[in-house]
Amino acid sequence: MTKLNIKNCARCKKIFMPVGKEKICPDCRGADLELEEKVKSYLRDHPGITVNQLIEGSGAPAKLVWRMIQQGQFENSALKDAQYPCGRCGKLITRGAYCSECADKLKANAQKFAAAMNSKRRAAEKKAQTFSDSMYDAMGNSRER
Ligand SMILES: [Zn+2]
Ligand SMILES: [Zn+2]
Repeated sequence: MTKLNIKNCARCKKIFMPVGKEKICPDCRGADLELEEKVKSYLRDHPGITVNQLIEGSGAPAKLVWRMIQQGQFENSALKDAQYPCGRCGKLITRGAYCSECADKLKANAQKFAAAMNSKRRAAEKKAQTFSDSMYDAMGNSRER
């Protein structure tokens, strides 16, 4: 049975068929691209402005502008401070989704989680081992009888 690959758009909740890992529908993506163009042309017309001035002046959502910075769309551009807030603590950063402290913390958490998962798996394997041993014993015993 083939599963029909449909999704609800993360923004407008409309059902659409995503290509790859797309989260938003073609309509919303088109609107995003239009906004990105608007942001870029505003920056072209106002070189040397800050991120906040760009967000205010272009009328684009801050999240969209931040994402554009994160994607490197403003590298070597006329933007004065290509910074955006860390996704966890809000500190201004210039690359990645999180500041270095948050990235470290998240990494430590992920490692802790992985370690916990590993010990859980080992315990399960041990159990499976014990189980098959006892099965073997039971079989051996039944054979002897
Ligand atoms: Zn949509
Ligand atoms: Zn942070």
